[in-house]
Amino acid sequence: MEWIIGILVIGGILFLLDREIYRYEGIHIGARLQAFLYNRWSKNYDKAKAASQRDDANVLARPLLEKIASVPAPLVLDVATGTGRLPYSLFRQPEFNGYMIAVDISIGMLEQAKKKLASYRESLALVQYRKFPLPFQDETFDVVCCVEALELIGEKQAAVSELARLLRPGGVLLTSRGTEDSGRGIVVISKDTLTSLLHAAGFEDVEITPWWKVFNRVFARKPGTSDPAGAQQFKDILCCPQCGAVGNFVEVESGLQCAQCSKPVNQIGEIFVL
Ligand SMILES: [Zn+2]
Repeated sequence: MEWIIGILVIGGILFLLDREIYRYEGIHIGARLQAFLYNRWSKNYDKAKAASQRDDANVLARPLLEKIASVPAPLVLDVATGTGRLPYSLFRQPEFNGYMIAVDISIGMLEQAKKKLASYRESLALVQYRKFPLPFQDETFDVVCCVEALELIGEKQAAVSELARLLRPGGVLLTSRGTEDSGRGIVVISKDTLTSLLHAAGFEDVEITPWWKVFNRVFARKPGTSDPAGAQQFKDILCCPQCGAVGNFVEVESGLQCAQCSKPVNQIGEIFVL
């Protein structure tokens, strides 16, 4: 009898965790458990989200490329890339000639991205990193994206400010807003509140437009002008999480190694490059 109760209890806990990850994507349970749930969910994630991703080329990739048309080979950061939907959508546009760094908390999700994006690996780095600030200098990127994820980050002002820090003056932010129809009541932020958050972080030209039932698409720009960052390799812009040296890495058998502190990047602990 006890084993039946045990199975029911374990089944109940897994059901509640799956409900939490599906409905709130683990916002209430901390980055480590969130990553664990995403790892469990990763193989079925694209199937579950297929309907919402079908029009990514028209709604995300092409409008973004129009906004950065003056930059021939943009350097793009995708925060919370998941299974790499945004890189997938951008790389499939013939006019996209840039370099992307795609970051997520979940190795399972990144492994799905790695399979899906195998033919674009020369122009793409997939990186697990679980906290802010991200290991890049101020004003590094031409474009910073954080799609379907901002509402799931606890400290929103800090998150938006971090996205602003990473973007060069004149650079473009692509993000999203979970709508009132999303059913995620407590994590929904109003259009006015999001606009205020973006303005407080220094963004201008905020455009919040309907996308699909659960999300609005959001564009904003960092004021000012600066030279395009242009396509650069990950190893040339990474700040070593161990010693802080910038772009000073050598390729060894196990991956990247910091030339200053001699630490292999994937042994530092808070970062893993796939
Ligand atoms: Zn180092």
